[in-house]
Amino acid sequence: MSMTRRDLAGLAGAAVLASATEATAATPGKGGNVTPTPAQQKLIDAAREVRQRAYAPYSHFLVGAALETEDGTVFKGCNVENLSYGATICAERNAVFQAVAAGHKKFKAIAVVGDLPAPITPCGMCRQVLGEFGGQTEVICTNLKKEVMVSTVGALLPAAFDFDPGKYK
Ligand SMILES: [Zn+2]
Repeated sequence: MSMTRRDLAGLAGAAVLASATEATAATPGKGGNVTPTPAQQKLIDAAREVRQRAYAPYSHFLVGAALETEDGTVFKGCNVENLSYGATICAERNAVFQAVAAGHKKFKAIAVVGDLPAPITPCGMCRQVLGEFGGQTEVICTNLKKEVMVSTVGALLPAAFDFDPGKYK
């Protein structure tokens, strides 16, 4: 397996990611206080739209995600639950897999929306999947109250799984 994906993922860019952490305007789970840029708002709107298509008959917890690729293409994903719970997929991974299937591997940003008291953040599995393609990918977390928290994949997943974690020490 090629390790060049690490160059893309940038998970080794600890300094970059640390600065991103410091730049994060809100702490996950503590609410958001960021006014989104027009570009971020466009992604948020797309995530809110696709959230309505979520298939969540068991949890009734609808989530939408909109992923913008390097060339500006937007892929939308919603959570799709299954009677066999483990077969459920999150909105974020749904969007990533659609993008990859269409030939994209470089992402600028992903917006995620769910109905929580604070901006929803991607689960650990989705963070790992997003990290595969870039620690610098911006993560725009929001809720139906339009609270927004902006972070990066790398900041949300420090010490991500890596085949060779010592390589970058
Ligand atoms: Zn997830």
